Amino acid sequence: MNIHEYQAKSLLCTFGVPVPQGGVASTPQEARTVAQTLSGPIWVVKAQIHAGGRGKGGGVKLAKSLEEVETFAHQILGMTLITPQTGPEGRLVQKIYVETGCAIAHEFYFSLLLDRATSRLIFLASTEGGMDIEEVAHAHPEKIIKTIIDPATGFQSFHGRKLAYGLGLKGEKVRELTAFAKGIYEAVTRLDASLLEINPMVLTTEGKILALDAKMSFDDNALYRHPALEALRDVNEEDPMEREAAQNELSYIKLDGNIGCMVNGAGLAMATMDIIKLYGGDPANFLDVGGGATRERVTKAFKLILSDARVKGVLVNIFGGIMRCDIIAEGIVAAVKEVHLTIPLVVRLAGTNVELGKDIFAKSGLPILSLDDLSEAAKCIVEKVKEAA
Ligand code: GDP
Ligand code: MN
Repeated sequence: MNIHEYQAKSLLCTFGVPVPQGGVASTPQEARTVAQTLSGPIWVVKAQIHAGGRGKGGGVKLAKSLEEVETFAHQILGMTLITPQTGPEGRLVQKIYVETGCAIAHEFYFSLLLDRATSRLIFLASTEGGMDIEEVAHAHPEKIIKTIIDPATGFQSFHGRKLAYGLGLKGEKVRELTAFAKGIYEAVTRLDASLLEINPMVLTTEGKILALDAKMSFDDNALYRHPALEALRDVNEEDPMEREAAQNELSYIKLDGNIGCMVNGAGLAMATMDIIKLYGGDPANFLDVGGGATRERVTKAFKLILSDARVKGVLVNIFGGIMRCDIIAEGIVAAVKEVHLTIPLVVRLAGTNVELGKDIFAKSGLPILSLDDLSEAAKCIVEKVKEAA
């Protein structure tokens, strides 16, 4: 789960990480009222969407008066903000954050995230802040300082010093950066975050270190331990289909292709996607209905796949272990009847009660093509979708 910048900053505050003062608003009038409570003489008006690069897209503006705050708020609220991270369709801005502006001496990049290669948290920092860190990593890998944290010891002052020296900081700033890094570490570990990215972290002309931007992502599997975080979810920022899938305990991820897949088990789902690719097709989704799915869940999953207008054919690949093939077949038949299927459907069932399952298809009188061999089934759906195109 991702959250907005203003939410992340409010969390950071509770961990002692310095952030500019600010408040959230959903109307220009509200923005002005917020700005009045903040010290000027510069305010920053920032679009709140779950995507970075807002500055480039016109979603971050520096205002020099309360009138300007209101004007910029008027411009940004309700706009469809397109940034390098939103895709061409952009995102509707429904909230803005108004902050006290600061005079920047230098912009740094600073983040803490889960490094999957070492299975540890890793700090990444760079003097090249404010810009696309992937670009820096590509063009100047030597400009990225990395510090891996051993979970047995946790964060230690020397980690902070290493990061500070790497960023060229000296004297009192070394201690300040160490405290900053410690706050970031505490926030990530205590809240089960998988990423906390501060881009930019700034050194102001007054010599203060501040988190000027904040992006925070949480591990969905740990959210049950943090009921308060669930309240920060903004459903407007989530894919409606993925959201619906999650509510039905289905692991669904939308992809770019046109062949819908319904599979039980993540490994089998990956293999099914691979084999579709092998025969020249493109999967429209990853969908794992789980090991113990009910008839209702199968129906739900099927309808979910078909609600994607790009899907031009469906491949069902189920191994009946815990799940019985006849239950699956009943679910599919019920779903096909309900949605008036007009695109090709190929089903490959194997395992418990497979004969019963195939019987249900045969007796349904529906255009369901049942094949025993996975290669054949994949080849078949790829061909049918190509024919139809
Ligand atoms: P992003 O473009 O979505 O990553 O949004 P950021 O919050 O990182 O803001 C983009 C840029 O706006 C920053 O890199 C800064 O250069 C600038 N900016 C943001 N807040 C301030 C501020 O208080 N003062 C000044 N001078 N610039 C700011
Ligand atoms: Mn940023």
